[in-house]
Amino acid sequence: MADSPHPSAHPFAADVVLGLNAVRAQIRQAAEDSERDPASVQLVAVSKLIAAEGIVPALEAGHRIFGENYVQESRAKWPALRERFPDVELHLVGPLQSNKAREAVELFDVIHGLDRLSLAAALAKEIARCGRAPKLLIQVNTGDEPQKAGVSPAQVDVLLAECRDTHGLAIQGLMCIPPAEAPPSAHFALLARIADRHNLPILSMGMSADYPAAIQMGATHVRVGTAIFGERPRRD
Ligand SMILES: *Cc1c(COP(=O)(O)O)cnc(C)c1O
Repeated sequence: MADSPHPSAHPFAADVVLGLNAVRAQIRQAAEDSERDPASVQLVAVSKLIAAEGIVPALEAGHRIFGENYVQESRAKWPALRERFPDVELHLVGPLQSNKAREAVELFDVIHGLDRLSLAAALAKEIARCGRAPKLLIQVNTGDEPQKAGVSPAQVDVLLAECRDTHGLAIQGLMCIPPAEAPPSAHFALLARIADRHNLPILSMGMSADYPAAIQMGATHVRVGTAIFGERPRRD
């Protein structure tokens, strides 16, 4: 679209529906393999850099939970889509700058990337101001990778306590993106252990390459883009 800062992909409607159905079937299979109720796993269809016309086929097929990475791109795409499909649940899965906290609180139902106290402060302020309270997940950098967003596993307890005690924020769960080279299961298991320790109900983990493994380790939300919408344009 004209005012989008990024190029977008325009996948064919039939391919999107095929991808969506294939991912749904794999989720069901992975859940059954680990003796979980398939309904306990939510599919967040990650539509970043996908043009609105590529998202509509998924909406028309009945899908309602979507994830985006960029606040500006989401503001350009989703208000119009939401007029047609008002029961959409929108997740911000990418990193969030504090100066975009207001727009994020206004637009999203779940924010996956809370990873520092300054952002918690900005979110708390906007939640109080606008009376909308998205669910909040803390992103954990399970591999302690220096270039990656997320709080170190060693710091999660402190951040959780500060969110609650200093800012009155209820945190609903945890999110991670395992290191690209490592087998992901140990990272998923670590995230599940931390969530369990704190009684947090939401575990956001697993992407196109590894969502069945994440379901095996207890994921409640898998974030899948490429396997539904196909390859995205690269963002530079
Ligand atoms: C892009 C993205 C996804 C989806 O990745 P795919 O490999 O395309 O499934 C999931 N989570 C986050 C945080 C992302 O940025």
